[in-house]
Amino acid sequence: MNSSRDVWVFIEQEGGKIADVSLELLGKGRHLADRLNSELVALVCGYRIDHLAEPLIHYGADRVLLADHPELELYRTLPYARVAINLVQERQPYIFLVGATPIGRDFAPRVASAVRAGLTADCTDLQIGDYESKKEGKVYHDLLYQIRPAFGGNLIATIVNPNMHPQMATVREGVMRKAEPDPTRQGLVEQIEPAFEPEDFALQVVSRETRESTVNLKDAATIVAGGGGVKTPDDFNLIKDLAHALGGEVGASRAAVDAGFISREHQVGQTGTTVRPRLYVAAGISGAVQHRAGMDKSHKIIAINTDPHAPIFDIAHYKIVGDLRKVLPMMIDALRAKAK
Ligand code: FAD
Repeated sequence: MNSSRDVWVFIEQEGGKIADVSLELLGKGRHLADRLNSELVALVCGYRIDHLAEPLIHYGADRVLLADHPELELYRTLPYARVAINLVQERQPYIFLVGATPIGRDFAPRVASAVRAGLTADCTDLQIGDYESKKEGKVYHDLLYQIRPAFGGNLIATIVNPNMHPQMATVREGVMRKAEPDPTRQGLVEQIEPAFEPEDFALQVVSRETRESTVNLKDAATIVAGGGGVKTPDDFNLIKDLAHALGGEVGASRAAVDAGFISREHQVGQTGTTVRPRLYVAAGISGAVQHRAGMDKSHKIIAINTDPHAPIFDIAHYKIVGDLRKVLPMMIDALRAKAK
């Protein structure tokens, strides 16, 4: 069925700037393509985007498919999906990776259903391996293991898709590591002429308003996060004060976000942001698996909790059993005194 073993990555860009998640996927895609001894292909849609080809090659692509057209200037489901569906049907990639961003979550299922491919959302790891189907008495070689938490995060599932290719997966920003760009890498650039249908333009963008996020949890070196153990907005100010004293960002568990102490942009975890700070302070956070999914990779973790058996202590490097309303002011005072 498969005419190629190529690994494709959908490159998301906004105003000519490549999304971090796409570069992260190129890093992972490079490993997968090397393992399969195949090409890593970057598909990018937009308008006046010629300049993107070179960095994509530096980040690992062997080939860049550039669909450069005025109708692709802004993301719209149908024109973007049309370009991808036509290319996938024509070239039959083996694997197709997409960022689990709002755009990726719209684009990937549209393409998957049109080409009748399997799609696993929000993978936390991707590997290549074999699969033995006992039912068919057959071994499938070199399938994509699509690994992700399942059943509310209580187990890690490995999903394979032996027949309906390409094997499609989405991955959230921050989960994979960006490779170091190599300015000496060479690759091919192919201009793609989109073949739109009139119905692709059912939706017209009349006006557009954008706002840059002021929160950058993903790249923060220090994060101080508050959880359900914080009971009042005043107590949440202690989280903010400590973050400020440490020159870090404010994070939160879903419990703190649901309580209205801070906006969802600050949520760490499976349905929030995946972070990799050098220091993560978790105050009043139990350490539920869905929260840990986003912060396990932190280098040093300080946990403050009244419950000595809280699961967060299983992964913490420094464990403070105590009331955050007493512990946090002491930490803030000590830091302020040191700064004088
Ligand atoms: P709680 O469970 O209320 O725990 C509060 C902790 O604070 C307890 O350990 C308690 O001992 C301690 N405490 C209480 N008072 C004090 C005090 N005065 N001082 C110090 N410690 C104190 N959660 C996320 O965080 N991020 C996600 O992305 C996420 N995604 C999810 C996705 C799914 C599909 C599901 C089902 C759940 C998800 N959740 C997520 C929710 C998650 O399961 C937990 O409910 C949530 O993380 C609990 O937050 P918490 O530990 O801060 O609050």
